[in-house]
Amino acid sequence: MDFLPVFLQIRDRPCLVVGGGAVAARKVDLLLQAGGRVTVTAPRLGETLQALHQAGRIGHRRAAFSPADLDGCLLAIAATDDQVVNRQVSELCQARAIPVNVVDRPELCSFIMPAIIDREPVLIAVSTGGSSPVLARLLRGRLESLIPAAYGRLAALVAGFREQVKQRIPAPQRRAFWEQVLQGPIAELVLSGREGAARAALADALERGMEPPPMGEVYLVGAGPGDPDLLTFRALRLMQQADVVLYDRLINPAILELTRRDAERIYVGKARNQHTLPQEETNALLARLAKQGKRVLRLKGGDPFIFGRGGEEIQTLAGEGIPFQVVPGITAASGCAAYAGIPLTHRDYAQSCLFVTGNLKDGSVDLNWESLVQPHQTVVFYMGLHGIEIICAGLIAHGLPSDFPAALIEQGTTPRQRVHVATLATLPERVRAAEARAPTLIIVGEVVKLHQDLAWQGNRAI
Ligand code: SAH
Repeated sequence: MDFLPVFLQIRDRPCLVVGGGAVAARKVDLLLQAGGRVTVTAPRLGETLQALHQAGRIGHRRAAFSPADLDGCLLAIAATDDQVVNRQVSELCQARAIPVNVVDRPELCSFIMPAIIDREPVLIAVSTGGSSPVLARLLRGRLESLIPAAYGRLAALVAGFREQVKQRIPAPQRRAFWEQVLQGPIAELVLSGREGAARAALADALERGMEPPPMGEVYLVGAGPGDPDLLTFRALRLMQQADVVLYDRLINPAILELTRRDAERIYVGKARNQHTLPQEETNALLARLAKQGKRVLRLKGGDPFIFGRGGEEIQTLAGEGIPFQVVPGITAASGCAAYAGIPLTHRDYAQSCLFVTGNLKDGSVDLNWESLVQPHQTVVFYMGLHGIEIICAGLIAHGLPSDFPAALIEQGTTPRQRVHVATLATLPERVRAAEARAPTLIIVGEVVKLHQDLAWQGNRAI
């Protein structure tokens, strides 16, 4: 180890920053966040520091650096663009054993500043020993995405109960107790914003002197349209902690792979006219598994509340008092539109956008045609492949020109995505000839014309 990682208490302690520019301002900001009493020595202050000075948040000595500035300092940071001054600050500090940091000059530093992930009071510091701040920042980005934003709240909950736990639970069992709490249902309550319930559950567990009993819950999670990169952080977190996974046909195997290795996986998918499990049975199964104390993940393609029957599934749970969470996902319309370069709205072409289902009931389409042929709007048909002839002919019959732009996006956002651009008159034939495979989405509107200019193959999943 080239450096000893430590966290320094600087609250109300004098800190010196030499330099008044933008780089100095970034360091001052950090010192202030940690409660330091900051004085800046610089002949001139840049805009940011000027504002802080006027607000009374920092002291300012309007002069060039002088050794006396270091008197009484807990630490010093040199951030001037004059390397002679920077070196002088460094040497004087080191001679007086004052910790010093010279920005971007590790060889002049007695301490370096890490990249930080702040989940107050949880702090994660990343350092590459000064060799590559860019790499440290990239690593920080990765960690940011792994660690839920609410982790700080979890730490606050623990802090609030620490003394009580100490008094009630003997040392040998204490660690197991906390591990259980931090990995179990109580932590999940905090991470999903239900801190009141979390505190009550923790108080209850403490009362009984043992870890909380397993508490079943259902996570109704939108997995997006196919590209695993389009999952949300929350979706991924719940996918990695669920005990059982219920998934259907729309779920990309690459997404299923991201669920916990040892989780039980149950296929409940439906293809057109081929329902594996009737909806009522899926609803009942969710409830049954949760009642056994399991954390049940119901993975849905796209967004669970858009043509996903998510509402029906949680109605059963709500009726039986089973806890559940709903996690939104990127719906097929958003995903396909973005990956195909077809904006759903556009100032020149469409000020509104309709999502409708093109699913046929007994061979006829039950659609409000008048609402679909309004000017300046985009209409997106989910589940429209089977009825594409009826849809296109119906739109023409109700007033749209036969050369009106229409597109079908096949297996959107996946490596097999294909975009078929045509007109209402020609799209059905084009799609049949290309043997388009489900899932597909139809977009009707003038925005389709933008595909030519905006389609960028690069944002398609490889
Ligand atoms: N809840 C989902 C929609 C479920 S209905 C969502 O929000 O996206 C199923 C329909 O969604 C399919 O018939 C198809 O029209 C559309 N769909 C889902 N994924 C798709 C994809 N990757 N490409 C094209 N269409 C898709």
